[in-house]
This record gives sequence, structure tokens and C-alpha cells, in this order.
Amino acid sequence: MIQLPDRFAEAERIVAHDGPHAFEAVVPPIVQTSLFTFATVSDMVETYAGRRSRDVYSRTTNPTVSLFEAKMAALEGAEEAIGFPSGMAAISGSVLAFVSPGDRILCVRHVYPDAYRLFETLLKRLGVAVDYVDGGDLAAVAAALPGARLLYLESPTSWTMEAHDVGALAALAKRHGVLSLIDNSWATPVFQRPLSLGVDLVLHSASKYIGGHSDVVAGVVAGRSELVSHIRRTICPYIGAKLAPLEAWLLLRGLRTLPARLRQHEAAALTVARRLVEAPGVTAVCHPALAGALPPGLHGTSGLFSFVFDESVDIPAFCDALRLFKLGVSWGGHESLVVPALVTRVQAAGPNSAVDFGVPDRMVRLHVGLEGTEALWADLAGALQAATTP
Ligand SMILES: *Cc1c(COP(=O)(O)O)cnc(C)c1O
Repeated sequence: MIQLPDRFAEAERIVAHDGPHAFEAVVPPIVQTSLFTFATVSDMVETYAGRRSRDVYSRTTNPTVSLFEAKMAALEGAEEAIGFPSGMAAISGSVLAFVSPGDRILCVRHVYPDAYRLFETLLKRLGVAVDYVDGGDLAAVAAALPGARLLYLESPTSWTMEAHDVGALAALAKRHGVLSLIDNSWATPVFQRPLSLGVDLVLHSASKYIGGHSDVVAGVVAGRSELVSHIRRTICPYIGAKLAPLEAWLLLRGLRTLPARLRQHEAAALTVARRLVEAPGVTAVCHPALAGALPPGLHGTSGLFSFVFDESVDIPAFCDALRLFKLGVSWGGHESLVVPALVTRVQAAGPNSAVDFGVPDRMVRLHVGLEGTEALWADLAGALQAATTP
């Protein structure tokens, strides 16, 4: 019998405790300070001259934040990482660090809607063009790459859950001298380590599985020192989007259970997705594990997927009838969540974003949480029955 490698072992090793910390505390302290003092002017001069490395001011570095950054770098197999106060700050900071007016970004279709809106609004205003391409069509990506500055990836994609061959996309980018960047929030480093597949930079909304408890908004980017320090030098001090020590501490706490939580999210979501395939009124289930073999480099699936109802189901009535699945955006915490695409349609037409993201009308997105698979399925089956016209 072939012994399959344990998919969780590496992440479990990295998130295992590495203390003790100050005061022999088993949990790291929250270093809640804005500044750090110097004993002498000469110490200060040595530090500012770059001959000594130490904390000066928490807008740039802070010990609790640095612990989180080191843990994320280890999980992603990166040399360095930078924490941000949101996933969007990680996305905008990383992109802005590398583009100039006149540049072009190549982006896969169906990335996170606010990343798409960032590209279509602010970046366009700054004179950066963005083209969109089907990330599953390697020939189309290869044809569109020449002359691009950045290849922006997200796999699986938001809402439509298309899982791409990230290694093949990274190799194409490399061949054309294009920097590649991926949003890895869905898979987490437990299931996908994009740097090992050749991607240059990996980023997360740490508000999702990294934090894992729906109590913090944060982001992170990781990669080679040369690239990460470029973002740290050219963007972080001036944009000023810094991760707070309390948030970093919550993220460190969340990371401890990341592999354990993902085991359960994966199993529960797969069970629910497979039953939805058989359910009346469901015309399609968008879950990477149901679309055939996972692409190379994706070693598991998390708790977020979507499906499509036919006309026999009243979608608002279905969502309103759910009890365990709460109506709400975001995902990655304990709670199961539901969002119908019709809500993102309203958002897309709203005053803040004139840009339609293009999610199918009758799509519903689920985050399958940790409440127990059978209870969650009973909730869905009951709501489906209540919302179906016979
Ligand atoms: C939520 C999300 C983001 C944005 O992260 P915030 O922490 O909310 O700023 C980016 N990418 C994906 C895939 C997300 O789901």
C-alpha cells in the first residue's frame, strides 16, 4: 500500500509552540507600545544609519507583529512576510509597490471583487491598465503576458471557485519576465504553497482562515526578501497601513489551530457539497474537488464554495429560513455563512463601485463552519424544502 504523505504535518510542525516568550509566558506578549526608547544618541544614530537592527516605532516594526510575520513566512516557505491591517491593504500595497503609470497588469478573471474594483478605479486613474484572462486557459495567458508588469492570480477564484494550475501560470510569468502575485486566502499555506510552485509573492486576507475566529481584519504578504523588503521600504512607511500588535496576537492565536480547523472545514464542506449535487433545485455546485482532480500544487479544499439554484427555489426565502448558516459576508471563522449573489449585484450597482463583478444571478455562496456536519445539512435541507415551489 502506498503511504500518502500527511498533508497537515508540515503546517502542524510550524504552528506548534515555539516559546517560552518574555516572563516564560507560553503565549507571546502583546507589545502594546507606539515607540521604543534608546539609551544614547549614538545608539540612535547607529540604528538610523542601518548598522543596528531594532524596533524604533510601531508604524514600521513591532515585536508582536514581527512574530506573526515570521510564522507566516515559515508557513509559506518565504524568506520574509509583512503584516497589513487588512487583506485589501496587502493587495493594494503589494501591487502599488511594483507598478508605475503606463504599466499593464494581467489578472485572472473572478478575483476578489474589491481587488477587481481597485484595479478598475484607482489603478486606472493612476494610468495602470488591467487586462483579464481565463486563468484556466494557459495559451490565452501566454498570449497576453508579453509586456505586462504583473500577473495577478487568485486560485481558486472568488465565487466561481475555478482552481488553476498555479505552477504552470508562474512558469509562464517567469518566461516572460513578469512578476507574479497570488491571493492564497482560500487554500491557506496548509493546502497550497504558491512560492514552492514558482510564484513570486503570496498574499492573504488574514481576516479569513489565518485569524479563523471572525474577530480580526488583517492581511499579509510573503516572498523573497528582495521583493518583500521593496514593499517594506517603498510602501509601508508612507502609506502607513500597519498591523496592530493586538491584531497580530489574535492572528498568532488563530494560526495555532489552522491545520486542525481546516481538517474539519474540508470534510464538512465536501459532505455538504456532494449532497447539494443530488439536491432538487440545484443545477451546479462550484467546489474545486467536484470539478475533477485538483490541479497540481493544491493539496486540499477549504470550507467556502458556491452553487446555483434553478427557478423552483426562492433564493431570499431559502437564505432567510436558514438558522445555523448566518447571512453575512467574509468567511473563515467558526460560523457557517451564506450570501446570495443577488446581494453582490446590488453592491456592484451601488455608489461606491460602478463595476459589475459578473457572478451568475442565481448563485449562492456558502461557508461551511464548525457547527457539525449533520446539523448543518439538516439546516440546509429544511430551508431548501421551505423555499421550493412544488
Ligand atoms: C476577504 C478577501 C480579501 C480582502 O480581505 P480583507 O481582509 O477583507 O481586506 C481578499 N481576497 C479574498 C479572496 C478575500 O476573500
